[in-house]
Amino acid sequence: MIQNIANNIQAFTSNVFLVTGETTALIDTGANFDVISRIEEYTEHIDRVYLTHTHADHIENVPSVRGAFDVETWGYDTTQDVVDHAIQDEETLPIGDETYMALHTPGHKPDHLCLYAADVGVCFAGDLIFANGSFGRTDLEGGNRKTLIQSINRLADTVTDDLTAIYTGHGPAITSHPQEDINMAAQAAQMQ
Ligand SMILES: [Zn+2]
Repeated sequence: MIQNIANNIQAFTSNVFLVTGETTALIDTGANFDVISRIEEYTEHIDRVYLTHTHADHIENVPSVRGAFDVETWGYDTTQDVVDHAIQDEETLPIGDETYMALHTPGHKPDHLCLYAADVGVCFAGDLIFANGSFGRTDLEGGNRKTLIQSINRLADTVTDDLTAIYTGHGPAITSHPQEDINMAAQAAQMQ
């Protein structure tokens, strides 16, 4: 089961996805709200925390989550204090009851990852793309529009027609024709 536990939070935070199952995992921790009590509404333990990238709105709750659940974190860049374990490009990872593949997708930030499970057609896209053809900003430190476009194109080439849902770092999940939103984002990022 996948749920955005930052839903309805009015704060500067990313979405935070709790995925329960054999490996109960948190995708990003969010910021500026009490994520612990939200998690505890659903589970008393977390096996792993995965970080799509290390912008403040995705990671500021890492210390409190570590402290409350005695859990370690996985991300691309272990030089970041919030990342305990490195994820390599195309490494497979247990999340919920599925196996996801990590895709290194820089452009918004150099350490950005997407997580994709072909078997169930689910992708966690971080801040690479958003609903309706929106895409991650590239004007922050380490951002690069050309690299972002390459990453969006890589995601488009990787997902199959069975893709059913993209869970993005901000805004609503994309559950209707998600491949079209990826292609729209690639086009929009090229034009703007
Ligand atoms: Zn970001």
